[in-house]
Amino acid sequence: MGEFDLIARYFRCLGPERADVALGVGDDAALLRPPRGQALVVTLDTLVEAVHFLAATTPADIGHKALAVNLSDLAAMGAEPAWFTLSITLPRVDENWIAAFAEGLRALADVHGVRLVGGDTTRGPLAVSVQAMGFVSEDAALRRDGAHVGDGVYVTGTLGDAALGLALVQGRATLPEAEARYVRARLDRPTPRVAAGRALRGLATSAIDLSDGLAGDLRHVLQAGGVGAELECERLPLSPALRAGTATDAERRRLALCGGDDYELCFTAPRSGEEAVYAACAGAAVACTRVGTIVAAPGLHLKDAQGAVFSLDCAGFEHFPR
Ligand code: ADP
Ligand code: MG
Repeated sequence: MGEFDLIARYFRCLGPERADVALGVGDDAALLRPPRGQALVVTLDTLVEAVHFLAATTPADIGHKALAVNLSDLAAMGAEPAWFTLSITLPRVDENWIAAFAEGLRALADVHGVRLVGGDTTRGPLAVSVQAMGFVSEDAALRRDGAHVGDGVYVTGTLGDAALGLALVQGRATLPEAEARYVRARLDRPTPRVAAGRALRGLATSAIDLSDGLAGDLRHVLQAGGVGAELECERLPLSPALRAGTATDAERRRLALCGGDDYELCFTAPRSGEEAVYAACAGAAVACTRVGTIVAAPGLHLKDAQGAVFSLDCAGFEHFPR
């Protein structure tokens, strides 16, 4: 099977048809119709074998994750996803692999109504880049720079599951079967919080998606806003699987604060809007927890259950070091 057959077979009709695609896959470039009055939101993320996923990761999961991490970026902007492009580098044409990859991609594209409108196909070490595009009105976009002193700091879902999933895959942690399956899915098939991002427009003062761990990602929000944050670490939302797979509070805190790849949203909002924030997340069918407060003193101030300040260096963090 040649390059053009492959594209025609697996990538020409991926995701639902959309009226705003004048010309999709097949020409030199796509012709797209962004809605009048909205900003075009564009993001791109690359997954490289052995760096962003392991050789054992299934092609369907790679397809899912390549799109999911990009939709997560759109979610963190409060954007409505619309289209995506795909650059794929393959060591060889393995039709079974490509069919499963395309299926993983398609399932998530269908859920979010996004259409594949173009891309590039090359030979080389396995790597996948997805560029996702969406819309948001410029003044409603959720940016990193809007946090104010006194705002609550919130996160969706639970934290640290993907990092525990990675530790499991790498043989550095053990879990009962059901919990193991859960954390593996959190690592391999993240759920982009698109509906929550959309619902938080007009409520959140800043937002970011969690790809590198709460401590690292929240710092970007703090720097952009010229503020600090106090985190009440006993409030960090933890899944039953994470509680089952860890022995100490210190271990749990490290996973929740330093662990990457959860693709939850972290956002700030005035405490006066807290009820509306919880209602927005409930409407988006995702849990939401206030984990701290924005303060004037720069930096991240971590407090334990007794209110004592502690420090934690995520740099060089290894989940469950041997
Ligand atoms: P060109 O050489 O003019 O850049 P290509 O031969 O690379 O065009 O691609 C032909 C068409 O197929 C284009 O519309 C391109 O966007 C699309 N395409 C190529 N690879 C992919 C892919 N992996 N996924 C989606 N569309 C693709
Ligand atoms: Mg061309």
